[in-house]
Amino acid sequence: MDLKQFPPKARMRRWTGGGLSASMRYSAAGVSTCIFIDNGKHSILVDVGDGGLRDLLEINRGGEAGPELDPIENLKAILITHPHFDHYGGLLSFLHFLRLMERTSPLEVIFPQGSQDRIMPLIDLFEEDRKGSIGYVLTPRAITSGEDITIGDLQVMTLGVDHHDSDIRGNVGDRVPALCYKIILGPTSIVITGDTGPTLELSGFVRDSDLALIEATYPSDMMSPTGVHLNVQQAREIGGLAGEHWLIHRTGGSDAEIEGNG
Ligand SMILES: [Zn+2]
Ligand SMILES: [Zn+2]
Repeated sequence: MDLKQFPPKARMRRWTGGGLSASMRYSAAGVSTCIFIDNGKHSILVDVGDGGLRDLLEINRGGEAGPELDPIENLKAILITHPHFDHYGGLLSFLHFLRLMERTSPLEVIFPQGSQDRIMPLIDLFEEDRKGSIGYVLTPRAITSGEDITIGDLQVMTLGVDHHDSDIRGNVGDRVPALCYKIILGPTSIVITGDTGPTLELSGFVRDSDLALIEATYPSDMMSPTGVHLNVQQAREIGGLAGEHWLIHRTGGSDAEIEGNG
């Protein structure tokens, strides 16, 4: 197995506009994605793959999240795009760490309806393990495509996207519940596609957002099996509809194409 296909380098990226900020240190297909969004007052973590905790500490150490933001107390919600391990595998560590740091603010864990069977066992394991000693209220919440939610001062819109289980040999399995999120503060918005194959409504959802984080798993010369992922060219076309875009969820092949251009 060629492990070179996984981009090894963490690279801090930070965008700020209209009172909203996005910070991301690492995103690679089949490894991990963690995106921190904040408005200087509170924050949301979108996807919590392996290493999410290290990314949080690294972002905080670098002062990237702003001096006012307490990364423990001010995290309002963890939004999970879909139940694949590179997007939720770090959840258990995160919940334990917040308890260890004696967090007291309530926390929502939000995920697409239909992914409870993969995500709830981690939450149950944490709550059983630390019963009676968890200082914060943890609320799991399943949401559906088209549902708008409010998290603190932030509005979140959702769009169901077409994504499937697949393996490293390119075999495609069942469709998984997967959501694209748009996080809105006043006139400013950030879209995070999560993993998605070509999806009809995606371009309209991304259009006129200020920043879009678009999955770009395959290099441009590789066509996605239907409904699994986008390639770099497809991702660039969709990203071009936003004010700025980052191509995320890279592989070795797409990384070489994205580097310096993403
Ligand atoms: Zn993924
Ligand atoms: Zn996935």
